[in-house]
Amino acid sequence: MLLRHTSKEVMAREGLTINPAKTCQPIGAMYAALGIHGCLPHSHGSQGCCSYHRSTLTRHYKEPVMASTSSFTEGASVFGGQANLLASIETIFSVYDPDVIAVHSTCLSETIGDDLQQITKKAKDDGKIPEGKYVIYASTPSFVGSHITGYANMVTGMAEQFAVSTGEKTDQINIVAGWMEPSDMREIKSLASLMDAKIVLFPDTSDVLDAPQTGKHEFYPKGGVTIDELRSTGDSKCSLALGCMSAEPAAIALDKKCKVPFETLDMPIGLSATDRFIMALSKAAGKPVPASITAERGRVVDVMADMEQYFYGKKVALFGDPDQIMPLTEFLLDLGMKPVHIVSGTPGNRFEKRMKEILERAPYANFKNGAQADMFLLHQWIKNEPVDLLIGNTYGKYIARDEDIPFVRFGFPILDRVGHSYFPSVGYSGAMRLIEKILGVLMDQQDRMALEEKFELVM
Ligand code: SF4
Repeated sequence: MLLRHTSKEVMAREGLTINPAKTCQPIGAMYAALGIHGCLPHSHGSQGCCSYHRSTLTRHYKEPVMASTSSFTEGASVFGGQANLLASIETIFSVYDPDVIAVHSTCLSETIGDDLQQITKKAKDDGKIPEGKYVIYASTPSFVGSHITGYANMVTGMAEQFAVSTGEKTDQINIVAGWMEPSDMREIKSLASLMDAKIVLFPDTSDVLDAPQTGKHEFYPKGGVTIDELRSTGDSKCSLALGCMSAEPAAIALDKKCKVPFETLDMPIGLSATDRFIMALSKAAGKPVPASITAERGRVVDVMADMEQYFYGKKVALFGDPDQIMPLTEFLLDLGMKPVHIVSGTPGNRFEKRMKEILERAPYANFKNGAQADMFLLHQWIKNEPVDLLIGNTYGKYIARDEDIPFVRFGFPILDRVGHSYFPSVGYSGAMRLIEKILGVLMDQQDRMALEEKFELVM
């Protein structure tokens, strides 16, 4: 019983978070920045922050994650980090030669009040940014929001600081990726290609954090959205933002700066959300849905119908990032399951509004987001109303073990399994994979608990 101190009685809490269901803003900014080709993320703060962010991303993606730091010591912590950042920019361009440095702040530099826009401008004015190279920035104070906020802030920074409007609209569609895996980004591009839709996806961490082993280390792997592509987003005919919390802010920024109209969709996780994405893409591109995509959808519907009896009525607790667990909740309902407890550590009213819509057909569900929507609360809810399945990131394994609940790893971070960066969760193939994972753990539990006379070969 690793969590033996979790009490059943739920008491009101205001200032206290116990085992948060989120992590800090700069991790999101660093992940987003890796989705630009030739970009080196830069952490403006102490070395400790940067090490933590790099190690969390490295542990999740099982790939070396490169990033630099302003390396604050006592002097910068008291007098501000401008000198450190200016020196860093000069050193990074001369030693590591990136196309872009994407600077994000940390708790320390935000508390001091360092102004990244002003320091970046000074770097340019002082000639520290070589011709054809860029420094972008995002403010990511970790005492508010979560890694999702940091991701959204950096993606918004890409739109604000790169997009250019020439006045001539093109046939291109921007797809703003909410926080998803490299495998998911690859799947979105594949679906668009099958439909013959001309898109630019940003950010794009495929072929960066899932790069193949070639025997040769590439400091800047071949993947990532290019600067030219980012600049062209200002001329695109529209944007589709995949996630109201992690992607929509960038689409709004593009609309404001370059008059690119946008539509916000749920991340295409599960059958219904993927249907909406496919139809929106087809409409935006003016292309019909190809037979290959329709057939893929048909296979998902087939397995849902075949396995319905194993899903029906099963109670589920889930936690994680809002843009992922909103469509996942909808998918669980489509499967006939009962999502009863849902928490997300990321604050924001959009979660509550969208969850209320999704849970109209499940008025029994408990859901909460924000700082006090933590793993402790989720565990307390489970103790009061036990569930048949737990879905969430690696941190859920403690609850799953203590309560003996089948557990599907989903979301960020996953530190103790592989596969998430290689197999998508989005699209119809993602829906199929989720079905397989959920069914697998439910049937394993059924086998484990079955009496000898009920132990079946065929299920
Ligand atoms: S919470 Fe703040 S101090 Fe801690 S690692 Fe994140 S940015 Fe650094």
